[in-house]
Formats: sequence, C-alpha cells, structure tokens
Amino acid sequence: MGKGFFNVPVAINEPVKSYAPGSPEREAVLAAYKDMWNTKIDVPLYINGKDVTTGSTKTMSAPHDHQHVVGTYHLAEKSHIEEAIATALEARKTWSQLPWEQRAGIFLKAAELIAGPYRAKINAATMIAQSKTVHQAEIDAACELIDFLRFNVQFMTDIYHEQPESTSGAWNRLEYRPLEGFTYAVTPFNFTAIAGNLPACMAMMGNVVVWKPSDSQIFSAKIIMDVFREAGVPDGVINVVFGDPVMITDTVMDSPDFSGLHFTGSTFIFKELWKKIGHNIHNYKTYPRIVGETGGKDFIIAHKTANPIQVATAITRGAFEFQGQKCSAASRAYVPSNLWNTVKERVIADVKSFKMGSPEDLNNFITAVIHEGSFDKLASYIDGAKNDSDAEIIVGGNYDKSKGYFIEPTVIVTSNPKYTTMCTELFGPVITIYVYDEDKYSETLKLVDDTSEYALTGAVLATDRYAIQEATKTLQNCAGNFYINDKPTGAVVGQQPFGGARASGTNDKAGSALNLLRWVSPRMIKETFVTPTDYRYPFLG
Ligand code: NAD
Repeated sequence: MGKGFFNVPVAINEPVKSYAPGSPEREAVLAAYKDMWNTKIDVPLYINGKDVTTGSTKTMSAPHDHQHVVGTYHLAEKSHIEEAIATALEARKTWSQLPWEQRAGIFLKAAELIAGPYRAKINAATMIAQSKTVHQAEIDAACELIDFLRFNVQFMTDIYHEQPESTSGAWNRLEYRPLEGFTYAVTPFNFTAIAGNLPACMAMMGNVVVWKPSDSQIFSAKIIMDVFREAGVPDGVINVVFGDPVMITDTVMDSPDFSGLHFTGSTFIFKELWKKIGHNIHNYKTYPRIVGETGGKDFIIAHKTANPIQVATAITRGAFEFQGQKCSAASRAYVPSNLWNTVKERVIADVKSFKMGSPEDLNNFITAVIHEGSFDKLASYIDGAKNDSDAEIIVGGNYDKSKGYFIEPTVIVTSNPKYTTMCTELFGPVITIYVYDEDKYSETLKLVDDTSEYALTGAVLATDRYAIQEATKTLQNCAGNFYINDKPTGAVVGQQPFGGARASGTNDKAGSALNLLRWVSPRMIKETFVTPTDYRYPFLG
C-alpha cells in the first residue's frame, strides 16, 4: 500500500452567516424549521449502525411551545447498553487499526456536510430543540461543530508529529494508541457542538464510543448522527443511547473495559460519576481517563477607569444571549460606584429593548429556557430576590410558562456580595450585580476570587493597565478563560481553547490538542540497531 506523510487541510474557522433579511441562508433555515416543526420524527437508538426501536418512548417538544410535539425517542433497557458496549468493543478491532488519515477523512467530510447540505437542518433542529435564535444556532450547531471537527484533525496530526529524539544507535518512536476498551460520552443540552464533539473527538483518535446525549437535545443529536453516518463513521464506532441516565451510566461503568469518560454538564453530576468510577476502580483493566467540563459562576469586574457603556454591553450580551444558558454566561458583576448610574441606565434600556418569543420570529433576541425544571428553579430565585431585603430587581422579574418556558431577562442588584445569586449557578437569564466602592478595587478582586466554588470564565474591564495587571494576577485561579475588556462568552475553537478549573472541571480545554491527548495512550518504541552481546560494561575492567 502507498504511504506518505500526509498534510491535512489547514483548519480555518467557519465564517458565521448573517441571516439578514433577504439572505438565502435565512430562507433555507426558516423552510427547514417549518418542515421539522410540522413533521414528527421518531428517533431510535443507534447500536452497531442499526436503528434500534424499543417500544418504550418519550415525546420531544420545543421549550418555547411545550405542547407542540415534534417527535419521540426510544428508551434503552440495560440489555441495549450491554449490546452497545459489546458492539463497540468488536468495532474497536478494526477501527483502532485504521490508518489515521482514513479517520481524518471521515470527520473532515462530516465538517463539510454540516457546512453545506446539513447546515439549515442542524440549525433549525437546534432552534427547535434548545430554543436558540438563528444566530445562536449558527455559531453553535454549524460553526463551532465544524470548527471542532476541522481543528481536531489538525491537532491530531500535531500530536502524532510530537516525537522523541533519536541517536545514531537507536530509533525512538512514540505511537499514540487509542485507549484500550471503550469510552463513554455524556453530553449537555446547551450546545449541539459539544454534543457532537465529545464522541467525535474520541472516535477521531481511534476510540470506540457509547454516547448518551441529554434528553433535551435528542432532536438535534439525531442530525449529528445522520451526518456521522453519511460521513462514513463505521458501524459500532459511535453508539447512541437514550434513557435513564443512572441505569445507562451504571451499566457502562460496571464494565471492566470502560476506559474513559468525556463529560460536559453540571458539577454535581460529574462528581457523582467520578465517585462511581472510584468505587469500581479495582474492576477496570486500565485506569479510566476522566474529563469533565462543568458548571460556572462567571463574573465581570469593572474598574473605575472602564468605559461604562462597554461595561453595560458586556453585561447584557454576556448574561442574556441564549437566555444565559451558556456555561460561560456572566452571572455576577461587580461595578464601581462611579460608573453605576450610567451602567444601570444602559443595562435597563438594553434589556427593555429585547424582544422575547419563538426563535422562528427572527426579531426575537430572547427565547425560552430549556425545560420546566429550569423554569421553576429560576422563578424561585426571582421570587426570593423580590422578597429579600438585600436584593432588588431593577429590570425583568416576570415569568410565564403557559405556552413556553419564558423567563424575562432579570437584573438583581444586591447590597450583599455573598447573596445567594452571587454564588449559585442558576443557568438562566438572571445576573446579579454588586456595586462596590470605587476605591475598593483590590478588596473587590479578592471577593471575586472567594465568592464561588467555580472557576470557568471571567472578565475585567478597565483602561488602567495596572488595574488590568492586578486583576490578571489576583484572579489567576478564578477562571480558565479570562477576558480583558470583553464579555466572558464566545470562545472560538482554535483561538480560545475552553475549560475551567476548581469545581468547573478538569480543564482539559475542548478545542485544543490538550483535550485530544487525554484520548490516547502513548506507546514508546525503542529500536536498537546493534544489539549488545556481552553483559560486562567497560567499568568492570
Ligand atoms: P446536566 O448535568 O443536567 O446533564 C448533563 C448530562 O448528564 C446529560 O446527558 C444528562 O442526561 C446526564 N445526567 C444527568 N443526571 C445523570 C446521572 N445521575 N447519571 C449520569 N448522567 C446523568 O447538565 P445540563 O443541564 O444538560 O447542562 C447544563 C450544565 O452544563 C451547566 O451546569 C453548565 O455550566 C454545564 N456546562 C459546562 C460546560 C463547560 O464547558 N464547562 C459547557 C456546557 C455546559
């Protein structure tokens, strides 16, 4: 067979389409939306490349219109999970041996399918399933997923290029083996791109996968599977299962062949999964890799020299896009007293100008939150703020779940820097602001550092360079992604690798080679050319 040191296409970020009135992409996405809205789909499990229906189903509906059913999905039983594991292990025999360029070809093709024929579909599915505006769907389901696939191919080859020195007498080679066994991807509702990337990047490195998407994202996960199939992911390499997360996870983690967890979701669940792995540690054939990107309580701190209009915009964009359901969304802000009146006026005016409703109406900036559980939780914190003497709602504060799970973007101002909504992840369109004495910047930075258990994203706004330096230093361990004079959201694959530490995760930086390294187990091969024939070293005389 012909060989070569192949170069892969230079990865570039997928340009974000505008969806401006009159643009062809706007027409295409609205047509796809209408079509999907009016057709009920039935989503099977995918095991060994086959559609598996189980007879036990649940319905799927859109968060912005919860009575409108868009389809059903099938629930796995324990035997299906066992079958998915067995089938993955069987597929591993050939998949792990396939030359890397064949794997690269599959995932590069997947990227192009999403960029082209599947773009409108995957965006429309994300608008329906997760209630994203078309812009939020485009930057997630289309662009970020395309970027993950393209850049990871490049990072994979960068990793393979990392080789040790060799001397004249020996040749040293590092072989990047897939993990022995099978891996498990557990993905959140909020990013179609994360849902696609977690199983795909492990498979790209030669691993086989059992993937459990979030119940609230299955409608768009189906399009991902359609793309993977059309791109040529072989049977058994990525198996998709839905159903009781505890049963699925227990079955996966009871297997001695379980070799890695790639998780994104909430902190509590990740810690529970880690505990299960620890509990089973004596049963595994290899130490499982554990990667988890979890919750956040992301901050904005403004210095007294910041531009107040920029601060206000960082707050409104950073806190409310996609209803604050980005793990990176700003949810606590510290504003100096000298800027407060201007910031307050602007934030209130901005929030009042937001239109809220279905994502099908492209004038809407805000749509619904993901499900009733989230709605009820947010409503209870808003009610709390209405009653608490140390909190005041300056804009928003209403909610209505009669048709969809709509929560008005809400700004709470508190006189208590440790007020509950300054510390707890709410994961919705609610931000809490603490106005600090403009001369107490250093003390406030320390407050930012010790207020929350999380360390995902954060931003400082200032024109004074000493103030920027002080924040950069004091907040060193407070955010895995730190922004200067920007909002704390919007990380781009290949530009700002993403992830946090402390309770926010293992910080393995999705969208970088650092993450892919977790899915290989290097084998060092030393080949000696003239093999010794006498055990005696010269010093022995
Ligand atoms: P979630 O924790 O509710 O669910 C995540 C996944 O875990 C889903 O697939 C869910 O079905 C599964 N799961 C739930 N309970 C389980 C259990 N007991 N055993 C096994 N699996 C279980 O999170 P979510 O609501 O889908 O997503 C929002 C959360 O994700 C937020 O906390 C957010 O901060 C976090 N998040 C973090 C990042 C990051 O990069 N740090 C990115 C996106 C989301």
